Amino acid sequence: METTAIAANPGTPNSPSRAQTWLQATPFILSHVAVLGAIWSGVTWSAAVLCVVLLLVRQWAVTAGYHRYFAHRTYKTSRAMQFFLAFLAQTSSQKGALWWAAHHRVHHKLSDQPGDVHSPVQSSFFYAHVGWVFDDATVETRWDKIRDFAKYPELRWLDKYWVVPPTILAVFCLLVAGWPGLFIGFFLSTVLLWHNTFLINSLTHIWGKRRFDTGDDSRNNALTAFLTLGEGWHNNHHHYQSSCRNGFYWYEIDVTYYVLKMMSWVGLVWDIREVPDHVLEEGRRRAKGEQDKLGEPVNQSSTDDELSLAA
Ligand SMILES: [Zn+2]
Ligand SMILES: [Zn+2]
Repeated sequence: METTAIAANPGTPNSPSRAQTWLQATPFILSHVAVLGAIWSGVTWSAAVLCVVLLLVRQWAVTAGYHRYFAHRTYKTSRAMQFFLAFLAQTSSQKGALWWAAHHRVHHKLSDQPGDVHSPVQSSFFYAHVGWVFDDATVETRWDKIRDFAKYPELRWLDKYWVVPPTILAVFCLLVAGWPGLFIGFFLSTVLLWHNTFLINSLTHIWGKRRFDTGDDSRNNALTAFLTLGEGWHNNHHHYQSSCRNGFYWYEIDVTYYVLKMMSWVGLVWDIREVPDHVLEEGRRRAKGEQDKLGEPVNQSSTDDELSLAA
């Protein structure tokens, strides 16, 4: 392990220059342009099916992998499955699992306060949505926040060569469905997946309902919950991050959790962390507008416990 790299923080003199930042943003911009290639190639049924399937599968991988496993450790799995989850999530072109999870932990630690890496309250909607990804201050992996997973060399390799999984997938799409497979199957689904995911950082800290007093501006938003297979129940999540389930009640659809639950039945994952009864009860009371009966404000000890675990 490269201990000097592990200790490095963003914003140090080693951070990339602004020109490098633009250089790194170029593939992101060109990926949007690449979707227009379908005007030339046309759209085939196989490419359209590929687009939908890759959008759904990779959205699940982003949510179940990057977020609920690597960032929050809300369930356990094998080392092989852990690698598979990181690889599959990284086909989304959202950089390495270690990079993603480490910055997400910073978000929870400083949510909507100075230092939050993507807060639409502290900065603009655009910066919270996507600008932060290419900021000099966040372009490097925050190794100090992800020591628990940085001990695995295969994950460090994936983090360093994060372009490998999406490149393999792009070539696969081209081979199985031709140019429409690349432009629609890969690029369109990747662009949609980016913005679905980014809406959690931008829109769900602005628009939606707040069930819990979390001390930030996180919201529960049914639209983004639908788009991201469950991540839109973001106020629930900020209140109790340790839970694998973000949709706390039967009517808060959380497809990612349902799939993980089914995977646990066949032993692919285990020790899924659930929402405690007292949290569910508290949420019901708040939904009925009975906050005055709850006494003290919401205790965020679960947040602190988890982040200390992750540190
Ligand atoms: Zn989170
Ligand atoms: Zn948030």
